[in-house]
Amino acid sequence: MTRTSPTEVTGYRNDGVGTAAALVNAVTTGGRDVSAETLRALLASYNFKVDEPLTEDETQMLRDWARRLRPVFAEPDQARAIDLLNALMAEAPMRPHISDHGLGPHLHYGPPGAALVDRVRANTAVGLAFVICEYGAERLGVCLDAGCERVYADIARGPRRRYCSKACLNRNTVAAFRARRTSTSA
Ligand SMILES: [Zn+2]
Ligand SMILES: [Zn+2]
Repeated sequence: MTRTSPTEVTGYRNDGVGTAAALVNAVTTGGRDVSAETLRALLASYNFKVDEPLTEDETQMLRDWARRLRPVFAEPDQARAIDLLNALMAEAPMRPHISDHGLGPHLHYGPPGAALVDRVRANTAVGLAFVICEYGAERLGVCLDAGCERVYADIARGPRRRYCSKACLNRNTVAAFRARRTSTSA
């Protein structure tokens, strides 16, 4: 699985931004319901503590949450993106505290002992909030490739990114080059 953004976005070890993008991509692309096991593995890969297989309820709640995170990436208007995200943050139980479970001290946004789904809600929503506040909503987007629906968070320096991955960028760069060559040789 490709990680969408590095943890240096905010320096926090719980990469809420990367989790948000990966969750949205797993749930809302590909045209079929993502499995409980895929979601469990995804969250574990982002350092969420997941001890048990996900229940059907948890799986459904995570899918629902991902479907509601997607519009935050897709919304081009910053004020509307902020409204969407504020509404999501209002729903996630928040009680920031410092935790250390073998990763070194880092911030958790949900209450201590919060259920997995609430931890995911709190961390992904706050992660995206940091991106908007520090970089602007235009740094969240949907891949420009015509056949790709994946979202990305772009917190790198330099020119704005338009594609979810190098693969999509390269494919489109080659296509644009061919189109240019065809039009100049005609
Ligand atoms: Zn943690
Ligand atoms: Zn793409």
